[in-house]
Amino acid sequence: MDHVVVVGAGLAGVRSVEALRAHGYQGRITLIGEEPHRPYDRPPLSKAVLLGDADSTVVDSDLEALDIRLMLGTAAKGLHDGVLSTTDGELAFDGLVVATGATPIRLRGEGHQHVLRTIDDALALRAALVEGARVAVIGAGWIGAEVATAAARAGCRVTVVEAGDAPVAAALPIGRYMIPWYAEAGVELVLDAPVGSVDPDGLTLMNGGKIEADVVVTGVGVRPNVAWLDGSDVELDNGVLVDEHLRSFVPNVVAVGDCANWYSRRFGRRMRVEHWDTALGAPDTAAATLMGENAVYDPVPYFWSEQFGRMVQYAGHHHGARLVLRGDPETDAKWAACWLTHDHRLAAILTVDRPRDLVQGRRLVEGRQRLDAGRLADPSVTLRDC
Ligand code: FAD
Repeated sequence: MDHVVVVGAGLAGVRSVEALRAHGYQGRITLIGEEPHRPYDRPPLSKAVLLGDADSTVVDSDLEALDIRLMLGTAAKGLHDGVLSTTDGELAFDGLVVATGATPIRLRGEGHQHVLRTIDDALALRAALVEGARVAVIGAGWIGAEVATAAARAGCRVTVVEAGDAPVAAALPIGRYMIPWYAEAGVELVLDAPVGSVDPDGLTLMNGGKIEADVVVTGVGVRPNVAWLDGSDVELDNGVLVDEHLRSFVPNVVAVGDCANWYSRRFGRRMRVEHWDTALGAPDTAAATLMGENAVYDPVPYFWSEQFGRMVQYAGHHHGARLVLRGDPETDAKWAACWLTHDHRLAAILTVDRPRDLVQGRRLVEGRQRLDAGRLADPSVTLRDC
């Protein structure tokens, strides 16, 4: 291999070029990024940046020392017969890493809606979060809750509008325990309220109701950035379809991060995980695959969210597993939700301000040990002794 092109200069892209060098690849590497910025981290955008504690989140990586050709402000447009077309011309390659991430979904309407994906989005939103501003956040998911946290902290009057019957309802069945967090932070939470349109003066709900707002933030999820691969031989279905080696249907093309829909041996199903830890970890396997090594990507997915002064962490994959609460979310400030498989193994864990449970729980998910549900429900029993 003489030339590897990495498309997408986010975390997964920059980790891919580092991993290629770490695996001994000495040929040329070109890293292409549509944004004009050097690779930066996104989790702080809805935390430290919105809160005014940071202005830059650039990833600490010495691309010059790694001898990378960095093409910023350049977008990939298509892929045909081993040639990548970009807004700055065509590039031939022997290996290609697709790391183009995801784009926020926007709703219908004439009004201005902020989204939060880039550093530019974060700085524009931060400037709008002034004391007394009426802020409507659409979606009580992870990003919506973090935006509401920052807006309330800035002295805004915040309403979060959610289509489901609880926060994070699309992802987890324990969102009802998070409902009180909003009121405690002085944030109004409106549930079962799908939004019809974003208007110049606020929101119109599907039921005809109105919510007046000076600032509207849409946080209803993302779509993988793969439209540029339409018409190529790379198979697409909710992202780039890749196997457990992160290899697409085109052998010298791999995909990583938010845009990759990979096969998990551990969970026996496909997964597309839109979290930082996946963008960090997958590139090592993808680089090994391009180098002809037999590497398998099979992690226990992990993410965290910081909302209303709480640290929420999750590891595993809970679908189809039985919920066991560890502590009482209605009375305990710190609690956990565990999910057990039919044969009593830990499938997933979510912790609220119980970081030690998260660390031990993640190991238990990895190790597949059998657990005692009664001991698991007792928060005074150390998790690894369950
Ligand atoms: P991205 O970071 O999206 O990078 C992809 C890059 O590719 C972008 O720069 C994009 O401009 C570029 N690109 C797209 N199309 C093209 C093209 N055609 N040509 C060239 N370049 C292109 N995860 C957690 O686990 N915990 C958190 O607390 C958390 N907080 C978050 C907060 C925010 C505000 C956001 C937005 C995300 C958060 N995440 C969090 C998720 C995490 O940041 C993402 O999973 C991670 O950034 C994915 O990295 P990536 O490199 O795959 O994609």
